[in-house]
Amino acid sequence: MDNLTARIIELSSGVYVIPGTTNVGVVTNENLSSNGSSVDVYLIDSGSTEIDGEYVLDVLKAFFEQLGQTFNVKAIITTHGHPDHCGAHNFLKQETGCQLWAAKHEQGAMETPIIQGTVLWGGYPPHEMRTLFFMPSPTYLDHAIKADEIIELSGGRRLSFMELNGHSYQTFCAIISDKNDKKVIFPGDNIFPRNEIINHWIPLILNPVQYMESLDKLCAIEKVEWCIPSHGDFLKRNINEAAELNKIAIISTRTCILDSLKTKKRMTVEDIVKYVADKNDLQMTFSQYALVYSTVKSYIAVMHDAREIKMEVSDNKLYFSLPVQK
Ligand SMILES: [Zn+2]
Repeated sequence: MDNLTARIIELSSGVYVIPGTTNVGVVTNENLSSNGSSVDVYLIDSGSTEIDGEYVLDVLKAFFEQLGQTFNVKAIITTHGHPDHCGAHNFLKQETGCQLWAAKHEQGAMETPIIQGTVLWGGYPPHEMRTLFFMPSPTYLDHAIKADEIIELSGGRRLSFMELNGHSYQTFCAIISDKNDKKVIFPGDNIFPRNEIINHWIPLILNPVQYMESLDKLCAIEKVEWCIPSHGDFLKRNINEAAELNKIAIISTRTCILDSLKTKKRMTVEDIVKYVADKNDLQMTFSQYALVYSTVKSYIAVMHDAREIKMEVSDNKLYFSLPVQK
């Protein structure tokens, strides 16, 4: 395999990333009884499809062959259960015999993938949402990651986890600390780098308030050398800047929803989605519509809970409006 250094990038001792549509993390653990000739590997996420899995495996084979080492994929650590993060799990498990790990609250949708489409659609999803993009084959977990779990690694390193919420039900950020406590972190989709957030100004979010709180948790982690979001560029010293931009995007969508409600006495969800999309110059495909629709509904729910938006069924339609100012 040519140009291997671009296909697997070293971030710190024993921590690598295989860049792709979904960036896949690689953490090695020297097998002490083998005198360094064999290593255990933990992967972080696997990609969208079997093709991504084949690619990851090819890169690993070429990489360890070049080092003169054999490798054993011990587990895939899933940041969260969205299809573009666990779509290659089954292939890699079949090929390597590895275990599949994820948070308990991601398990339901991974084992019953139609739930992903049902969440977005709000009922039994149409066939367009029963494709691999929304619905990979079922993935069964071998281990539920716990927030306080720590895996000791060779060279005085350790692998730990931080729970992040707001993008999915329960994302786990994987944190690899070296013996001086310098860290490489893999936060999944709980932060988007500058290029990604600018391109997708309204990313899929389950709870915008929790998402913002999780950004603060991420920024508070000390001694972070590298932060590898699942999509797009890697972050080094610009984590705070990216987090700020993520927050600006969220606040802007929230403001846009409130603005939409100032244009009419009351609006349906479809009206609000159209207003937000038009204001952001989006020409959505069905897939984009599904993601933006679900995200806008999440914002509305959180804002309704905070009594910023009123909800009522009238003449058999669901309407939203601004509360009357007293
Ligand atoms: Zn995701």
